[in-house]
Formats: sequence, structure tokens, C-alpha cells
Amino acid sequence: MKKDDCIFCRIANGEIPSRTIYEDTDFRVILDNGPATRGHALVLPKEHYENLFAMPEDKAAQAMKVARAAASQLVDKLHADGLNLVQNNGTAAGQTVQHFHIHLIPRYENDGQHILWSPSSPTDKELDETLRSITG
Ligand code: 5GP
Ligand code: ZN
Repeated sequence: MKKDDCIFCRIANGEIPSRTIYEDTDFRVILDNGPATRGHALVLPKEHYENLFAMPEDKAAQAMKVARAAASQLVDKLHADGLNLVQNNGTAAGQTVQHFHIHLIPRYENDGQHILWSPSSPTDKELDETLRSITG
């Protein structure tokens, strides 16, 4: 289902023009208009899913397939030194557009971006407690 008031539904379905690097029946990959680096792109399903958890498993698998191919093309054509896949779920995780998307962020030596987190130093006890909470 498509949502009329969703900007990414409208872009993915071609109602709003975008700089498209790949398209098939279910997905469109576009250039982000506020890129972290040169070639920053977004994988958008044409159907509206709010986030990863709202997507059927086969669609999520398909999205990763599309992401992998587009990422490889970006690295190749733009001579990137690396690439981050980023996928935010929920405002607490930095999601600003509530339509599932995967960021493809080509990385270049000394590009000045800081996408990774600051590591913390939990005790063994804390890590064990976390493990129990997840698996118990
Ligand atoms: P989020 O923070 O939800 O993970 O990422 C949303 C991304 O969408 C941001 O990187 C932002 O620059 C991009 N974005 C938001 N609106 C538009 C738009 O209208 N066109 C394009 N191409 N990118 C957009
Ligand atoms: Zn949508």
C-alpha cells in the first residue's frame, strides 16, 4: 500500500522526481538530497512500510539484495574507499522519514564524517545481564 502523505511513497512511485540510480517493480534507489558524502543514496521500497519491523521478511531480504548491488556500483563508479549501510528504526534511532529506507553511504579517506558510535566499557556482570535479558 502507498500512503499519499508520505514523501518517500511519492518519490519511490515516481510522483515526485528524484535522481534515481536503480529501479525495479518493488524498489527505487535515489540520491539523498542532504548527502553525508558524495553518492549517499537511499533504497526505498515502493510499498509503504514504516520501518524494518513492519516489512515482510521476503521484502526485507529483497531490500538487502538491492542495497548490495547499488552499494557495489557506488563504490566502483565513485572510487570510494569504503561504504556504510545505515538503517534507522524509530526517532530514538535517528529515523526522520517514517518510510523504511537503507542508507548507502560511500566513504572516502578523510571524508570528515563520523557515522560510528562512541564505545562504552560495561563490566562482565553488565554484559552477562544484557545477555540474559535478550536470551532469557
Ligand atoms: P533518516 O534520518 O530517516 O534515516 O533519513 C532520512 C534521509 O532522507 C535523510 O538523509 C534526508 O537527507 C533524506 N531526505 C529527506 N527528504 C528527502 C527528499 O525529499 N529527497 C531526497 N532525495 N532525500 C530526502
Ligand atoms: Zn511511504
